[in-house]
Amino acid sequence: MRLKGKTILITAAGQGIGRASAEACLKEGANVIATDINAEALKSLQQDCPTIQTHILDVIDAQSIKSFAEQMPNLDGLFNCAGFVHNGTVLDISDEDWEFSVTLNVTSMMRMCRAFLPGMMEQAKVTGSSSVVNMASMASSIKGFPMRTAYGATKAAVIGLSKGIAADFVKQGIRCNSVCPGTVNTPSLQGRIASADDPVQAQKDFIARQPMGRLAEVSDITPIIVYLLSDESAFVTGQSLLVDGGVTI
Ligand code: NAD
Repeated sequence: MRLKGKTILITAAGQGIGRASAEACLKEGANVIATDINAEALKSLQQDCPTIQTHILDVIDAQSIKSFAEQMPNLDGLFNCAGFVHNGTVLDISDEDWEFSVTLNVTSMMRMCRAFLPGMMEQAKVTGSSSVVNMASMASSIKGFPMRTAYGATKAAVIGLSKGIAADFVKQGIRCNSVCPGTVNTPSLQGRIASADDPVQAQKDFIARQPMGRLAEVSDITPIIVYLLSDESAFVTGQSLLVDGGVTI
């Protein structure tokens, strides 16, 4: 019950790391508000976890974020998880695809923080601290990988966004950190493997770049999310936490 009584909102909670984090936070006693763009995925989460509140929220829609935040209670925790992997070099990417990656991977997190931070600061006056966790990545933000230029640029920006927020609001009881996983076995990864020319080889290649010889499972990532949202990390802010199975040793 490390999150008992805390109200925590998660984006992209319909599947993958976001969903596993919603389930982990619920297990630790949080009131979880799970959001996603995919109604079917949220329905399935709601069926498995009837006490989770679910809401459709498209994080690339600025107006939806604003009006949604106005209806929500003051949060103790915000986990911005939504993100997208663009596959390509700087020579392949169109302006539209670049804009999409920037909007979904970074601008959405800035807008979520801008909308929810005032309420989180109010909450921190009562409890002492509120925590924002932003999903970055190890890939091409910390260590370069081929075909991940837009992804790496946006995830590096998430690390910077998180440090800036941490510095600006440390005196108001806000902590803000980012998480940088290695390759995690989620539906989106399975989609990237399936769409490769040789899916069997693609799976082998993803595993080969992990020194531990396996992909991360979502259960390797959720303990870090719970830790950063809990009071156990009360003295941790402005950090980017690598959970990469040794890729960056
Ligand atoms: P996933 O594809 O398995 O799940 C993503 C979820 O995001 C889906 O439920 C989808 O409906 C939702 N979503 C998509 N667009 C949205 C939008 N506009 N608004 C709200 N929700 C939206 O993804 P995942 O692999 O669990 O990745 C989650 C996060 O973790 C991403 O930010 C990703 O970049 C990051 N990450 C993933 C890995 C990995 O290897 N899987 C590694 C490092 C970081």
